[in-house]
Amino acid sequence: MISLQNYINGTFVSAVSGQTIDNVDPSTGKVFSLIPRSEQADVDAAVTAAEAAFPSWSNLSVEKRSEVLIRLADLIKSNSEALAQAETLDNGKPISLSRAVDIPRAEANIRFFATGILHFASEAHPNTEYINYTLRKPIGVVGCISPWNLPLYLFTWKIAPALAAGNCVVAKPSEITPYTAYLFSKLCAEAGLPAGVLNIVHGYGPEAGEAIVQHNGIKAISFTGGTATGAHIASVVAPKFKKMSLELGGKNANIIFNDCDFDEALSTTVRTSFANQGQICLCGSRLYVQSGIYEKFKAALIEKVSRIVPGNPSEDKTKMGALVSEPHLNKVLSFVELAKQEGGTVICGGERVVLEGENAGGYFMQPTIIEGLNASCRTNQEEIFGPVITLQPFETEEEVQVLANSTKYGLAASIWTTNVTVAHRLAGNLQTGIVWVNCWLERDLRTPFGGVKQSGVGREGGWEALRFFTEAQNVCISIPKK
Ligand code: NAD
Repeated sequence: MISLQNYINGTFVSAVSGQTIDNVDPSTGKVFSLIPRSEQADVDAAVTAAEAAFPSWSNLSVEKRSEVLIRLADLIKSNSEALAQAETLDNGKPISLSRAVDIPRAEANIRFFATGILHFASEAHPNTEYINYTLRKPIGVVGCISPWNLPLYLFTWKIAPALAAGNCVVAKPSEITPYTAYLFSKLCAEAGLPAGVLNIVHGYGPEAGEAIVQHNGIKAISFTGGTATGAHIASVVAPKFKKMSLELGGKNANIIFNDCDFDEALSTTVRTSFANQGQICLCGSRLYVQSGIYEKFKAALIEKVSRIVPGNPSEDKTKMGALVSEPHLNKVLSFVELAKQEGGTVICGGERVVLEGENAGGYFMQPTIIEGLNASCRTNQEEIFGPVITLQPFETEEEVQVLANSTKYGLAASIWTTNVTVAHRLAGNLQTGIVWVNCWLERDLRTPFGGVKQSGVGREGGWEALRFFTEAQNVCISIPKK
């Protein structure tokens, strides 16, 4: 049994209460580690440490901060295999995905902001009798809270810009997938990150997370997770006038026109729909296919998807692993039942999968395609966040624009067409923060990342993140004429 610890003021400690939470391996259903069940007292200690570290960290030159963070990125790289195995054990995702995406991206996040800060500049506005310039000052102590689907990837995506900009951080990973955040805290110590600059507190959202959000010493909150949690956090944070960035749920449309590159659209759609068991906020869960190729695309998709067999995520050959937890698996399966009640037909998958041997208790499910539902039903409106997609035909660009925009979410969309006019026009007319044309999940870290409507508030990535984690102060200097 592995015992994880909090990382507070550069030391590894249990929760003040001494209580722990069981952490389950989703591929077996068995507890493999214990994590601290932190509460207010642990967060108080973390904030005190962060406040004490802030003056020296924020006054360190950008070059020195950059050096420490680059050492950290190097350590992620040299420990990448151990981190990938830990991510797969904790989350149930295929090891090939942890190796190819999660851990390299965590390293890239740190390296990107470690070097980005060297080039971050603020504006000057010279005029005839005065000059204005903008200072971009670190905020102080900030809170970063992340979800379970891309554990180290999203945890570092927040922490890296916060630290690079000179803030000190109190961070909480998901209690469902805390393992790589714990290993990361060990690497922070090894990289020589000064004590208190980053503090990692483990525990439940309504306890440790709530204590972070409520704490008056924490001046900004960067949160990624569900829309309902985001709404609650906003209600706490807004009256305290903290800065906040909220990256929330999605119900993304994947739009396929008759004139697309069929094979490319098909193979990417399999990933768009089922990568990470469909548990990526950017997965396309509503697939709209134009009527001219609908039947052909449907047949080819079913043929490809029915060959994806869930398996032990630690094996190299596995393409689909376990869902993250039993409650989550049950939630996703309940949506399949709901879809049937709403008049949908399951044309592929739809069932839980029970493997043999050590994985018999794991949370596996078939990739699932549902047809015959209208746009307004709950299955097509609510986020399922699992390996379940719906398939719907459309006739015209105008029609699919209305369908794609018909949910309360607005995170991402994909368009597949060889007609550049349609691609540009429709992209501009979609109510989402991100649109991919003839590709999916290509992520340049300089680009703004985030959603509209109930998918979030604010943008991460590139300068947007460094601006979020700094406070602008305008200084106006008079230059009187002689
Ligand atoms: P969640 O909202 O249940 O939890 C997210 C984090 O918030 C966890 O660390 C949790 O402990 C914490 N939390 C819960 N209640 C809290 C509270 N009262 N105060 C403070 N913190 C609290 O989400 P989840 O189930 O872990 O993640 C899945 C969701 O995340 C999906 O909706 C998915 O779309 C979304 N997501 C969004 C993005 C994006 O970039 N927009 C990326 C990944 C995941």
